[in-house]
Amino acid sequence: MKSKFKIILKVLGVIMLLLAATGAFVYFKYMRPFLTAMKQTEQVQLNNNLRVVTGGGGNSGIYTSKKLVVLIDTKMDEAAKELHEQVMEMAKGKKLIIINTHYHPDHIDGNLLYKNATIIAGNYGNEAWLKASKKETLPSIWLKDTMHIALDDDTLLVINMAKNIHTSNDVMVYALRRKILFTGDLVLNHQAPVLMGEADAEAYLKFFDELMNQYPIKAIIPGHGNIAGIEAVDDFKMYFLDMKKAALNPDLEDELIAKYEDWRQLPMFMSPGATIKHFRAHAN
Ligand SMILES: [Zn+2]
Repeated sequence: MKSKFKIILKVLGVIMLLLAATGAFVYFKYMRPFLTAMKQTEQVQLNNNLRVVTGGGGNSGIYTSKKLVVLIDTKMDEAAKELHEQVMEMAKGKKLIIINTHYHPDHIDGNLLYKNATIIAGNYGNEAWLKASKKETLPSIWLKDTMHIALDDDTLLVINMAKNIHTSNDVMVYALRRKILFTGDLVLNHQAPVLMGEADAEAYLKFFDELMNQYPIKAIIPGHGNIAGIEAVDDFKMYFLDMKKAALNPDLEDELIAKYEDWRQLPMFMSPGATIKHFRAHAN
């Protein structure tokens, strides 16, 4: 009896060790490089009066005008604090408007640093917002459909997509003269998407086709990844089409997953495998 107990203990010990080793492997191979890369920011002066700050959570944009500064997405953690300092310096003596592309923490956690600012977000309503994020990040205006914001040299069209795509109220910001589009997480550049809750991969596919026809585009600021041209939409659309194909045909799965090996991803959470799972779970 005693020796049997010892064997069980040994087996348990080996299982624990294996689990710890797997955890460490996933952490060092995927999590750590991902988190390190996520924290890094880069400043890009895209043109007169438009600065893009990539990374540190979602990508952000700062439009400056004589009397107005418009900030798109407020980032998270240290990067949010740095962005806040930069924006407050640029907005001295001016009105500041903040636009949130959607309610995920990596895009809006910095909201809490901007006391009394006008913050515009899609029409989630208090209850849904508070389930996803902190009270201190609540916006001051729920945008139902569209609005225009006049800059000195351009006009921003703020669009609530108002249907489940990445979330239920994804907002895009399109500069009518510059033809620059901030997409939030509706377009990512070489990064697998997070498809949680109300996310709908089929709706993404419809969105890509509509987008191509609706707006002439010179540059896209994706939710994550480098600034791109319209090809970022083609790449991201191809990713969704490939994952749909893999969902329907398991024989192709390995090959299609391998195609996106160099995209930023996290196993099981934001990865080709997770997107395939999403398509399978939402089939019919
Ligand atoms: Zn994001």
